[in-house]
Amino acid sequence: MDKDKPTKRTRREILQTFLALPITLWITMCRDKSTEMLEATQPCGDDDDITPAQTEGPYYTPNSPQRASLLESGITGTKIVVTGVVLSTSCQPVARALVDFWHCDDNGVYDNAGYKLRGHQFTDDSGRYSLETIVPGLYPGRTRHFHVKVQAPNKPILTTQLYFPGEPSNNSDGIFSSKLLMNVQDASDGKAAKFDFVLNV
Ligand code: FE
Repeated sequence: MDKDKPTKRTRREILQTFLALPITLWITMCRDKSTEMLEATQPCGDDDDITPAQTEGPYYTPNSPQRASLLESGITGTKIVVTGVVLSTSCQPVARALVDFWHCDDNGVYDNAGYKLRGHQFTDDSGRYSLETIVPGLYPGRTRHFHVKVQAPNKPILTTQLYFPGEPSNNSDGIFSSKLLMNVQDASDGKAAKFDFVLNV
C-alpha cells in the first residue's frame, strides 16, 4: 500500500506537467503564427525570400508558344488556374517578365515532340501572370510539380519548380522545397493556385 503513495504523487506531477504543456505550446504557436503572418505581408524583404532555383530537368523545350491557357482538345484532367505576381527584392512588381511553364499531362507524360502543356507569357504592368492549365499527373521518382522559368527583362533566368501542398510524395522527393509550395484552393470548376515569385533584381 505504501508503495503506491510515491507512484500516485508522481502520476499527479506528471499529469500537471502535461496539463501545463499545451498552454506553453499554444503561446509558442501563437507567437510563431504572428511571425509567419508578418512575413507573409512582406514577401520580398530579405535574401531568404528570393525564390530558390531548381533543376530544369530533362524535358524543357525552348520556344514554347505564347499563351496564358494550356487547355486544348485532348487535354484531360483537373483544371487549375495559377496566378501570382513577379516581384523584385525591393517588393516592386516586375512588368513584362517572362513566365514560361511546362509540365506533364494527367498521366505523368511530357510532350517532348510538340508543345502540349507548354507555354510562356509576360507579366502585365502590375507584375501579374495568370496560367490556365491542368493539375499535372505523377511520374516515378517525383512528387507533383510544375516547371517554370521566370525572367525580368534583360536579367538572368530563374529556373525553378512549383509544388502542391499535402502531396504524399513531397517529403520523399529529393528536389522538393517547401519554399516553392503554392497556395492551392478548390474552385468552382477545379483548383485555384497562387504563387508570387521574388527575383534577385
Ligand atoms: Fe518534371
